[in-house]
Amino acid sequence: MKDETIGIQGLAFHEPLLFDQGSKGRTACSLPESDVPEVKPERLLPKKLLRHDIPGFPELSEVEVVRHFTRMSQWNYGVDLGFYPLGSCTMKYNPKINEEVWRLPGFSRAHPYQPESLAQGALQLMFELEQYLAEVSGMERVSLQPAAGAHGELLGMMLIRAYLESKGNPRKRVLVPDSAHGTNPASSALCGYQVIQIKSGPKGCVEPHAVAEAMDEDVAAIMVTNPNTLGLFEEHIAEIAKIVHGKGGQVYCDGANLNAIMGISRPGDTGIDVLQFNLHKTFSVPHGGGGPGAGPVGLKAHLAPFMPVPVVERKGGRFVLNHNLPSSVGKVRAFYGNFAALVRAYAYIRSLGPSGLRRVAEVAVINANYLMKQLKGHYHLPYDKFCKHECVFSDARQIPHDVHTLDIAKRLMDYGFHPPTIYFPLIVRGALMIEPTETESKETLDQFIAAMKKIAEEAEREPELVRSAPHKTKIARLDEVKAARQPNLRWKGKGPVEESAR
Ligand SMILES: *Cc1c(COP(=O)(O)O)cnc(C)c1O
Repeated sequence: MKDETIGIQGLAFHEPLLFDQGSKGRTACSLPESDVPEVKPERLLPKKLLRHDIPGFPELSEVEVVRHFTRMSQWNYGVDLGFYPLGSCTMKYNPKINEEVWRLPGFSRAHPYQPESLAQGALQLMFELEQYLAEVSGMERVSLQPAAGAHGELLGMMLIRAYLESKGNPRKRVLVPDSAHGTNPASSALCGYQVIQIKSGPKGCVEPHAVAEAMDEDVAAIMVTNPNTLGLFEEHIAEIAKIVHGKGGQVYCDGANLNAIMGISRPGDTGIDVLQFNLHKTFSVPHGGGGPGAGPVGLKAHLAPFMPVPVVERKGGRFVLNHNLPSSVGKVRAFYGNFAALVRAYAYIRSLGPSGLRRVAEVAVINANYLMKQLKGHYHLPYDKFCKHECVFSDARQIPHDVHTLDIAKRLMDYGFHPPTIYFPLIVRGALMIEPTETESKETLDQFIAAMKKIAEEAEREPELVRSAPHKTKIARLDEVKAARQPNLRWKGKGPVEESAR
């Protein structure tokens, strides 16, 4: 046995796979002697279905099982553990009151097939959430069905297609700026559109002349993220919307970054026809590990006939589900979307109120600008102007020392921080995209800033230290290419952890 695998190192436990633990005959339960006659399994099941042994099946005691899973649960990192500045993802703290609310039995135990008369509270919540989201965004209707941001984009594009088709021609192309999230071109392509990339201008925003040049009567829509993925407000959005509408096209807004503008500016007032909300970002629904989230879609009245069914309506003081929309694009999700996520967002909106939502945006923007200002002399800032909810640096100053974005991100883990988003947006080489969110205190931001400054210094004085980081984690660098290309999903007698553990 190698020294470093004996016992523990500090409090970073060595944890082999269950298959590599325990011993034959060890068990987690002890049952009393049976006091009824034993029935041989052969009498109950056909012989060919019986298995007397499972090869390699781990046999462990209760405490071994409990420790194994408890230790692994602590390898995780989340917003309840520390700062999580993952740009574009809005990893803010999710108030626990939201969890209390959705766990109320009337919500958590409601059955989707419950008759309307017994689901008035749930229907009222959906009805009011639609109104709140419409009010925040300046849209006229909202579909609560989509389960994520990308799913909302897809529904938005389906609505645009259905609308244009109803006018006689669905058209062929969709314009997408080069700073867009990868889901934008993907959603357009899934809807059968060819994607035309629009180059951002030197100030990081889409310029009206670039849109005008690409815009013709074969273009169905433009998809603009506002604020965009550089954390900048698209200053010309109203003019761009006019150009697109002038040729009969539709304007889609990727509203994932609504947390920077809510209560201050409404996309619907700037000519947007359809947008998605990421409730699991702006409206504090917990996310990570793939969900469950919710990506409602806000739309203007001309798109309403195409909304997914059912829609919640109020009739004579009661709430009803209307399944009868003849031009509907159909359902995009079972039942009514991720209802528990909707309840959390509702609780969040109700607990903050209009002035609270505005305050969220103000503080998110101040936090990002504070961070940007403090780090400006230490990291290259490609677009040097006030930002919204996030700021984007690059590794251009560290490259001469052969220290790259990935190294900086890994070194941050030694200082106890989750790294920011890296290498996105694609238009910034070696991007470090930092989103502090409004839920972090100045003290936390200052600690993060101190770590980033220290790393910039190390890059100059001891670049090798940064290049070989992280030094304090259980596992150093993983072969990410190999993990993606040749994932080891089967136990072959020797765990992957064992091989790479330091
Ligand atoms: C997060 C994000 C998306 C995708 O949202 P999902 O809920 O992850 O599908 C799309 N666009 C932008 C700008 C985003 O930040």
